Amino acid sequence: MRISHCLPKTSFSSPIMSSGSASLMWFRKGLRIHDNPALEYASKGAKFVYPVFVVDPHYMEPDPTAFSPGSSRAGLNRIRFLLESLVDLDLSLKKLGSRLLVFKGEPSEILIRCLQEWDVNKLCFEYDTDPYYQALDMKVKDYASTAGIEVFSPVSHTLFNPADIIQKNGGKPPLTYQSFLKLAGQPSWASSPLPVSLSSLPPVGDVGNFEISEVPTVEELGYKGYGQEELSPFRGGESEALKKLRESINDKEWVANFEKPKGDPSAYLTPATTVLSPYLKFGCLSSRYFYQCLTDVYNNVKKHTAPPVSLVGQLLWRDFFYTVAFGTPNFDRMKGNRICKQIPWSNDDELLAAWREARTGYPWIDAIMVQLRKWGWMHHLARHCVACFLTRGDMFVHWEKGRDVFDRLLIDSDWAINNGNWLWLSCSSFFYQYNRIYSPVSFGKKYDPNGNYIRHFLPVLKGMLKLHPLYVFFFGLV
Ligand code: FAD
Repeated sequence: MRISHCLPKTSFSSPIMSSGSASLMWFRKGLRIHDNPALEYASKGAKFVYPVFVVDPHYMEPDPTAFSPGSSRAGLNRIRFLLESLVDLDLSLKKLGSRLLVFKGEPSEILIRCLQEWDVNKLCFEYDTDPYYQALDMKVKDYASTAGIEVFSPVSHTLFNPADIIQKNGGKPPLTYQSFLKLAGQPSWASSPLPVSLSSLPPVGDVGNFEISEVPTVEELGYKGYGQEELSPFRGGESEALKKLRESINDKEWVANFEKPKGDPSAYLTPATTVLSPYLKFGCLSSRYFYQCLTDVYNNVKKHTAPPVSLVGQLLWRDFFYTVAFGTPNFDRMKGNRICKQIPWSNDDELLAAWREARTGYPWIDAIMVQLRKWGWMHHLARHCVACFLTRGDMFVHWEKGRDVFDRLLIDSDWAINNGNWLWLSCSSFFYQYNRIYSPVSFGKKYDPNGNYIRHFLPVLKGMLKLHPLYVFFFGLV
């Protein structure tokens, strides 16, 4: 297998002519077949569809200087999760008579070259509110419109279009969940079933001189010599997402009674929540389809919980943060962010490293940080505990530094949600009860009285438990 660096062997001046219309479907997030309006539109009436994914060095280039295996922006677990999702997508496309065309390089350059080389008259991709994609998409859209190519970029990553909510609110994002709910109402698409399957897709057209490769492995991307020790138990891909979704919604009682923040953050054999966040992050699972499945369950039970604590309520939190993030300049930093309290945080890198490397001396905090490094996922309340500890709870380190660590290591790392929750936990925005902190000892003890979670993620303490019961006593394991 080879990753193409995507330099076609001939000049781009003479496009390959195909008879009939052709579309380019650009996958970025939205790595799924079900409820994918961009893919549906791309295939409508088209003789050929080119499904393209670009391996972007901005996110994927190995960084040997980073504090853990991975690139400067993404830990290896998330990179692996993405590659698994691409393999799954490619398999699904092949079943429908198509395949994924994988390139490597700066996405806008590659997309423009593809548009120049292939005789494409429609460019389709899911709308993305992240600042990185906003800038990237502008370049590609500009080229497409000057070349007379139709661009279709629907909002399908979230339940609502953040721009609509902001417009309804007079141009500003709502800053409370309740006001968001009032403005949002019911999603417009919710009254009819979403399309969840396709019977076939138009074939891929002539790719000309492009070298097309299969989905690369982590080794082919330049990541070598990393053992299974760091391997997250969660596998990427739409198939896995739909399987996990079915497992969750089949338990109607569990769905109907779901109530967050109740739930055990130390439950690691069977997590207390759905663990669908990494699939939502990459769009292996449509949040709209998830929402529709949940409302189906609600319609078939006598009573169920409601937002903000219900499962639908969790999806609405996701949309809430997307909306505020989209409508707030400098949402990801303290300076220049009008909704963020200006707090003289410390930039103590030694404290930050102790937190990041699970060396705080508090087993509950350290175990959560190990789970983050190894699994790339932790329960919501566990995230609360370590984010509070790093910032207002104990270390007084800047929330942006903790945000960066989460951003790199989480497999569900999501620009809007991660920044939104760090603003929340550091009492910089949304939530201001600065003195309501999580004890790094008694909070963990409440859920993990026998230290099972701590022993699992900090096996070094297993031996210490036997040898030094006093250590155990002082550090709150018994
Ligand atoms: P479930 O409880 O099963 O919820 C279903 C879905 O609802 C989730 O998958 C998620 O998409 C959404 N959701 C749940 N809680 C929240 C929330 N508080 N805010 C927004 N959406 C929510 N979540 C991310 O997806 N990416 C992040 O980068 C991220 N960073 C976080 C950082 C901090 C400091 C904190 C405290 C929370 C963060 N969260 C993040 C939110 C939350 O912890 C996770 O979404 C959740 O734990 C994922 O597990 P789940 O899929 O089992 O959630």
